Order: sequence, then C-alpha cells, then structure tokens
Amino acid sequence: MRSVDVIIVGASLSAAAAAKRLVDAGLETIVLERKELPRHKICSGILSPRGHRFLLENFGPLPREALHEPTSCRGVTFHFPSMVSMPMDFFGGTTPHLHRKYSDYWAIKSSGAEIHDRTSFAGLEDHGDHVIVQARKNGEPVEYRARQVIGADGPSSLVIRSIYPDYPQTIPWFFVGQKFHDIIDCPLSPDYFHFWFHPGLGHYTWSHARDGRQIVGVGFKRGDNFAKKHQTVVNYLAEKHGVRLHPHTEDEGCGENFGPSLINRYVFGKGNVLITGQAAGFLNMIGEGMSCALHAGAISGEAVVEARLRNRPAQEMYRRMIASEVRRTTDQWNPLKIAFDRPHEADFPAALMALGWRDRAKVLRDLWRFVVLYKEFKWGRQIFRAAMQRPLIGGYSMQRWL
Ligand SMILES: Cc1cc2nc3c(=O)[nH]c(=O)nc-3n(C[C@H](O)[C@H](O)[C@H](O)COP(=O)(O)OP(=O)(O)OC[C@H]3O[C@@H](n4cnc5c(N)ncnc54)[C@H](O)[C@@H]3O)c2cc1C
Repeated sequence: MRSVDVIIVGASLSAAAAAKRLVDAGLETIVLERKELPRHKICSGILSPRGHRFLLENFGPLPREALHEPTSCRGVTFHFPSMVSMPMDFFGGTTPHLHRKYSDYWAIKSSGAEIHDRTSFAGLEDHGDHVIVQARKNGEPVEYRARQVIGADGPSSLVIRSIYPDYPQTIPWFFVGQKFHDIIDCPLSPDYFHFWFHPGLGHYTWSHARDGRQIVGVGFKRGDNFAKKHQTVVNYLAEKHGVRLHPHTEDEGCGENFGPSLINRYVFGKGNVLITGQAAGFLNMIGEGMSCALHAGAISGEAVVEARLRNRPAQEMYRRMIASEVRRTTDQWNPLKIAFDRPHEADFPAALMALGWRDRAKVLRDLWRFVVLYKEFKWGRQIFRAAMQRPLIGGYSMQRWL
C-alpha cells in the first residue's frame, strides 16, 4: 500500500490549486482521477477575471491548446423578455475562454503532484491519525494511506457520500444540457456569454460561440423533457434574435448541486477529510464555478499545511480559513450587494444605470418575475426565502454546516 501525506480525489481546477499549495510546502501528494487524462469536462469555459489572475499567478500563462475559439471573452450579456439586452464587460478586460480538457490537464501537471488517472475513488476509513483510501484502477482494487484526504471530485462527490451517505438527498439538484449547432447566421456577439432571464424559457438558459459552432444550453428539473426545452429556446432565438442554426450535431448534460452557496449550505468535510471546490458547494451566480473552485482548493491545501505547522486539526484550520471564500461566494447571491455593491466581476449596476428609465423599469420587473420562477422548485421556496432574508437579517452565519 502506497503511503503519502495527502490524497486528492479529482484532477480538476480545485485539485490543481490544492495540489500546488501542498507540493510547494514539500508534502507528498497523489491526485486520483477516475478518467483518463486529459479528460473531457462539460463547461462553457468562461473564466472570471479572478480565476484568470489565480491561474496566472500560480501556474503562469495558459498554453494555446488550453483555449477555445474565440480565445477570449469580454463579459456577459443579459437578455430579458422585454427584449432589453445588457452587455457587461468584465472588470480589467477580456479573460481566456478555457478548453477544460486541456486547461485542467495543464494546471494539474503544473502543480507538481503525482497523478494517478483511470483511478476511481471508492471509499475511505478515517482512523484519526491516518486515512485509508480505497480506489479502483482499471477495475482492480488499490489502497492508499494518507494523513489527509481532499475531496475535489465535483458536484456528485463520492468523497462526501463516503462520510455523509445521506448528503445528496439533503440539497437541491438541477440538470443542465447543451447542444452544439453549426451556424447559418448568428447576430449574438461571439465576444460575450449570453444568458436569458426569461421565465418562459426556464431557470437557466444560455448560449455562446465555441470553435465555429453555437452552443445552446438549458437548465431543467428531473422529469422535464430536455429536447423540448432546448427546441423552445432555439425557436425563441430564431424569432427574437434572428439566430439561424442547423440541427445540433452533438449534445451533453449533467446534474449540478445547485443552491448550496445561495443558502449558505456548504460542506467542508469531517476529521481528516476536507471537501473543496464545487463538491463543497462553491458555485457563483449564473453557474460560474472555476474561480471559487480554484480559491477554495488552494485554501484546502493551505489548511493542511497550516495544520501541520501549528499541530492543529486540519478540519479546524480549514473551516477557519475558508470563511473568506464563503463570504465572497455567498455575497454573489445577495440582492442588496448586487444592487449597491460589486460582488460580481462585471458591473451590473453600471449597465443598469446606462439604460433609459423605461428599460431600467422593464429589467427590474423581468428580474422579479424570473426570481419568482424559482419558487416552483421543490427547494425553490427555501432558496427564495433564504435569498430574501439574508440581507434583512445580515446573515452570514454559514447555516447548517456539516
Ligand atoms: C454546462 C456547464 C457550464 C459551465 N460553465 C462555466 C463557465 O463558463 N465558467 C465557470 O467558471 N464555471 C462553469 N461551470 C462550472 C464549473 O465547470 C465547475 O464549477 C468547476 O469545474 C468545478 O471545479 P471542481 O474542481 O470543483 O470540480 P470538477 O471540475 O467537477 O472536477 C471534478 C473531478 O473529479 C473527478 N472525479 C469525480 N468522481 C471521482 C472519483 N470517484 N474518483 C476520482 N475522480 C473523480 C472528475 O472526473 C473530475 O475530473 C459550468 C458547469 C457546467 C455543467
């Protein structure tokens, strides 16, 4: 059995950030990844300025192969049912349009950790002074021993389920699907990620250009018909925005742990097992998850290093150190922060004020109708109530920590 300082599960961005901190501190670190690397990751690849800074500062400039075409993104355009559109540029200029298959591989290799791909985490036993990790490589069982384990294994984290088997039933889930279309004519600017606040289209509707094709994506609930929802959006884009697309040539989708950051319901692990990235619940508004995954990942690595230096439990250090990232992510959903502060990295209040007063009123009315849509969901009422209460009670109490 291989014995190391830390095992990280997952070879994505949060893992790369955690691994970088651990390896830099001289800790022997193995990353387990269930897929063969470089691996595909469903993602639009729109990196926020903060995520971009993190990559530059920690791993250096991105190689060309880690980028899709167009290679950069100016920001986000919000579209409303009243046909008002609000383009918002990122603060500080354009950011890279990541090709996750290669950007993640580049980052994890740059971290200096030892990588075991095609190795699926299967379970663990925390014995207090060490953790035994069970995995499967090419179908064969393999075991590791480590002082700490970091679960960076994304929304449907098996590491979480190994310490909290009921966790998946206690949080809201939603599904996203996207289809790739060859373009006949597309007036939507390829420089922006486009998002629709339109209750008639669904709670999460987006489109953007990638490698000469147009992606059209929708969020849906369990039991919804993805093909039908997607077709509704394609028809809407044709009718309202003049977007003409060929039938799709490819599609993909996945389940997402939506809402933990909105309702302050993160999960950081137990004992020697730390949970980070989207697995822990870090996801910014409109599904931007790379920047908070990178920062949370780095903090999990730092917490392990600090715990050793100070001879304190890693879990205690992590919960203390992660508070800044919790606040930053949760702020993204706070309506008062959105109205009067700048929790996002594109200037929504400035874009709103740039509109005439009639359009401004339409946008506010459309936004309200959109938010009310969330009440339809099983978890919607709870999320809705939490979002409305937070600014009133000033609550950053990180409710329901596990
Ligand atoms: C359709 C879509 C579009 C998105 N667009 C954007 C965007 O434009 N910008 C943005 O910032 N974010 C976007 N996101 C969110 C972003 O992709 C995630 O928030 C981010 O990748 C989370 O990173 P992570 O490191 O926490 O985990 P993940 O990226 O989910 O990686 C988890 C890793 O763990 C591995 N793994 C899982 N289980 C096991 C196991 N049992 N054993 C070993 N390995 C395992 C997986 O294979 C994977 O490599 C999008 C998400 C979706 C679904």
